[in-house]
Amino acid sequence: MSNNTTTAKQQEVKRIVDVLSKAIAQHRLRPGARLIEAQIVEALNANRNHVQVALQRLAMQRIVTIEPNRGAMVAQPTAKEAREIFIARRAIERAIVEVITPEMMRRHRHRVTTHLCKEREATNSTDRRAIVRELSEFHLVLGEICGNEVLSEVLANLMVRSSLIVALYQRNDVPSCQSDEHQAIVDALEAGENARAVTVMIEHLHDLEAQLELEEQSGNEVNLRQALADL
Ligand SMILES: [Zn+2]
Repeated sequence: MSNNTTTAKQQEVKRIVDVLSKAIAQHRLRPGARLIEAQIVEALNANRNHVQVALQRLAMQRIVTIEPNRGAMVAQPTAKEAREIFIARRAIERAIVEVITPEMMRRHRHRVTTHLCKEREATNSTDRRAIVRELSEFHLVLGEICGNEVLSEVLANLMVRSSLIVALYQRNDVPSCQSDEHQAIVDALEAGENARAVTVMIEHLHDLEAQLELEEQSGNEVNLRQALADL
């Protein structure tokens, strides 16, 4: 295979990975949804082999699960995995917020302002997909601004998996991030107060985790009794 063909194939696989990740992150595809190859081929006007490679890549990223004889489906992270993802996010997002300088914030001011505006617009609406999309986009924007591609790549993976967790474990229908906490992080970074930005970010991530129902189930018998109690 020539280099050009390899590159074209890689680009096409990346396109399919990106579209599927986005659909999963925006809850267009829910945890456990079947990902039927033939349908993806048709919907994305793609080649079957490229779709297979894309699904394998998403499986390595723990965004998709592939079961022998049953095919691919959107992953359903366990409560344990959810807690581990939040621990990882606190480590990664702390590192991101630590390296962002006021000069980086100045260079990306337009991007940040535009984003916070779209975020407020979304949270004032009832469009749940837009709310989920814009609130998680904020974290990705900080990942890009920090200029460390490894940190932003790891974060991108954790953000898609966080969307799966929100879809599975969110206690109620409230948006998972608070816009004013995002604004407080931006204010601290613009002022060069990185320690304060880290504190707000860590608290923010603890708040998000607290909105999830991640307690271990204490045996099916008890749950069944509770579930049937008031009927
Ligand atoms: Zn947030």
